[in-house]
Amino acid sequence: MTQRTRPTVAVGALGGTIAMTSADGTAVVPTLTGELLAEAVPGLETIADIRAETLAMLPSGSLDERTVLAALAWAKDAVDAGAAGVVLTQGTDTLEESAYLVDLFWDRPEPLVVTGAMRSPQSPSADGPANLIAAMRCAVAPESRDRGVLVAFDDEIHQARWVAKTDSMSTGAFRSPVFGPIGRCVESQVVYGVNGGGRPPALVAAGLAERLQQPLPRVPLVATHLGDRGDVLDLVAASHPDGVVVAGFGAGHVSAAMAEAVGRAAARMPVVFASRTGSGPTGRAMYGYPGSEMDLVARGAIAAGWLPPVKARLLLWSALCAGETDQLREEFTQRGAP
Ligand code: ASP
Repeated sequence: MTQRTRPTVAVGALGGTIAMTSADGTAVVPTLTGELLAEAVPGLETIADIRAETLAMLPSGSLDERTVLAALAWAKDAVDAGAAGVVLTQGTDTLEESAYLVDLFWDRPEPLVVTGAMRSPQSPSADGPANLIAAMRCAVAPESRDRGVLVAFDDEIHQARWVAKTDSMSTGAFRSPVFGPIGRCVESQVVYGVNGGGRPPALVAAGLAERLQQPLPRVPLVATHLGDRGDVLDLVAASHPDGVVVAGFGAGHVSAAMAEAVGRAAARMPVVFASRTGSGPTGRAMYGYPGSEMDLVARGAIAAGWLPPVKARLLLWSALCAGETDQLREEFTQRGAP
């Protein structure tokens, strides 16, 4: 009788609520290692042989680009060593950002699936175990290959490029506005819809490891607001960042005064504007008043397209890191589109 060999999945834990416990039954903090997380979920070992590792033990607000790209390097090593897929667990607060950052550089066909939990392991109806099982199933499914980085949460499968945390407390906190999830976890199966799932090629990561040893690009995000005089953007620009992203109103708009500040900043560094609405793209050719999308482009700014401000910031940061300074506009045209 031939024995079916189980695939190997590498599970990298970065912290977050899924790994948070309380010693006295009150507030929770990250405590669980990757090994403990995996051991605590009954049945996980029937899906795959698990190689668990603790990559960090942090609330996700304290992760940074370096930590996330170290997880990317670890994940690449794991698939090079034979893993069929990778699961990363982390806090939900910045999950939409780290999943996208890893996706930008993920150049392997093997699935890399990110998950977390909204309820800690000791709470009633903790969602971490179900999310981890869904992520594992997703990571071993042949149908998940060549789809880039995925987020498995609440039995839905989302693309890293569009997923967003859209609720502060609900277990169904993750949505992909406009585009929706590309798949579902049903019973023990992973099912993908017929549409969606395409993605641009990964950014070239050659030299990334060496680049990470040097000071990294500084790309702040500036949110505009009613009555914005542009003074905060001026202050930010005066601190010599490598680029700036502006979270604009509606289709990426700002006040006339802020538009002047955008022009001043764009003369010195790349400036990208995105929509703060959480859904829908920046405009292209609809409005022509001072502060509109057409005006901002004329002043030298780059439109983020369908990318929300936090993902636009990561694309600009990554393109600068990868030395793609001459092709920023093309990068946003390509990666900011569905
Ligand atoms: N509330 C967060 C979570 O879901 C905390 C964090 O992001 O680390 O994990």
